[in-house]
Amino acid sequence: MKFNTKTIHGGQEHDKAYGAVMPPIYQTSTYAQTTPGGHKGFEYSRTHNPTRAALERSFASLENGNFGLAFSSGLAAIDAVMKLLQPGDEVISTNDLYGGSYRLFTQIYAKFGIKFHFIGMENADRIEDFVNENTKLIWVETPTNPMLNVIDIKKAASIANKHNILLGVDNTFATPYLQQPLNLGADIVMHSATKYLGGHSDIVMGALVVKDKDLADKLYFIQNASGAICGPQDSFLMLRGIKTLHVRMQRHCENGKAVAHYLNNHPKIEKVYWPGFEHHPNHKVAKAQMSDFGGMISFTTKGNSYEDAIKIVEKLKIFTLAESLGGVESLSGHPASMTHASIPKEEREKTGVVDSLIRLSVGIEDEADLIEDLRQAIG
Ligand SMILES: *Cc1c(COP(=O)(O)O)cnc(C)c1O
Repeated sequence: MKFNTKTIHGGQEHDKAYGAVMPPIYQTSTYAQTTPGGHKGFEYSRTHNPTRAALERSFASLENGNFGLAFSSGLAAIDAVMKLLQPGDEVISTNDLYGGSYRLFTQIYAKFGIKFHFIGMENADRIEDFVNENTKLIWVETPTNPMLNVIDIKKAASIANKHNILLGVDNTFATPYLQQPLNLGADIVMHSATKYLGGHSDIVMGALVVKDKDLADKLYFIQNASGAICGPQDSFLMLRGIKTLHVRMQRHCENGKAVAHYLNNHPKIEKVYWPGFEHHPNHKVAKAQMSDFGGMISFTTKGNSYEDAIKIVEKLKIFTLAESLGGVESLSGHPASMTHASIPKEEREKTGVVDSLIRLSVGIEDEADLIEDLRQAIG
């Protein structure tokens, strides 16, 4: 099955009771048993729910994996991965990381004795310098948030393989439409499904997909034991969102390209970060591992003024100033004061999150309206 068919049919079967084309919302916590243990595969909805199971099969299908897991949020999905580790284990992660992931690692898991190395991975060979006998996980986000750095997944996978370390990839920005990390050698792919997979800014959810049965069993155990699952109603909405992922992504990419070029030619704009530019430092890697460049763009203004950036995001009308990304509607954000406020200024500036940086999630509205909105806001 090709990707554009998988979004609609991947892992799905018609309802056995009445032939419903959409999976029914099994709004139930428990299931009748004829005799103790005599059930139809479902006992309790923290462990299994048919609507969530349909969604988990869809996740697995989209990422070319064998097993999918749905969680109550993207961070709950990452949290489940972290629970594979023991005190004393070490993790090598990119230094240009989603702020919430950084917070989870440094403020929750560090105190349980897990050691993190946050490093620049634009040159993926550097990862190997930080590997030792305690390294158990390499955590990659690509393209990164919000600097749109691109990390070579194949290279990271070859280092992980050589040293028998798990490689996890946060594929939230690219989506499986653009990039399929398991095909490139990753062990775990993670999504904040809140973003592009759901696509309509109406659900908070996380996903993991793996190929290996043993790894899947460990993660299912954690999912059930810790209990950060999503409900049947949200599972249904997520399945509905996924059905249009490929058409939405196509338009996100087209509009993203137009906006990136507009900003790049604007006299008041200093720098535009978008992996589709030939001047992007890892454009070649992006071209090799992604099928297009997505709808996420960051830029800075000349003079790098905090106040100018705030003025721009306040003036934008179609681009709504809001946290989050990946919905049909265009959003703007000011990472230094919003998504990345939990990262100390010194740390964030090292990775390029300066005061004037603005991040855009380019939606699927009309391209001309989006450009006009930027024109009136930037001046
Ligand atoms: C939003 C986001 C997360 C966290 O997901 P939630 O669903 O908000 O918990 C993780 N990684 C990236 C890249 C994100 O954009």
